Amino acid sequence: MDPNCLFCKIINGDIPANKLYEDDDVMAFWDISPQAPKHFLVIPRKHISGPGAMGSEDEQLIGKVLRTGARLARENGIGDGFRMVFNNGAEAGQTVFHIHMHVLGGRKMTWPPG
Ligand code: 5GP
Ligand code: ZN
Repeated sequence: MDPNCLFCKIINGDIPANKLYEDDDVMAFWDISPQAPKHFLVIPRKHISGPGAMGSEDEQLIGKVLRTGARLARENGIGDGFRMVFNNGAEAGQTVFHIHMHVLGGRKMTWPPG
């Protein structure tokens, strides 16, 4: 836990979030500023600053983040088409330095991303 981390505060319950799912390892909640009709985030409870800070011991945990996102996409009606995004570093648009996976769907996606 990082006391200055926004997502650690959401995990602790210090800041409210509109949760879809949580268990002992991961949590999912709707993004406060959705970029698609359905846009939620999946995070591990463990504080890891981003994909570049993962250790080999985190591989199974982040695999669970990914699989949880796919399941929740299905359960929320976007199973046929969704995008998963990890931003790493400010240059890539990362603003919260607790690893998180965006899951977006409900509209046609364009490529390349911005
Ligand atoms: P990043 O830009 O770091 O990849 O993504 C951070 C995401 O967290 C953004 O999409 C932003 O809208 C979302 N976000 C930031 N603060 C909050 C918050 O307090 N609650 C929720 N639910 N989402 C947040
Ligand atoms: Zn954190």
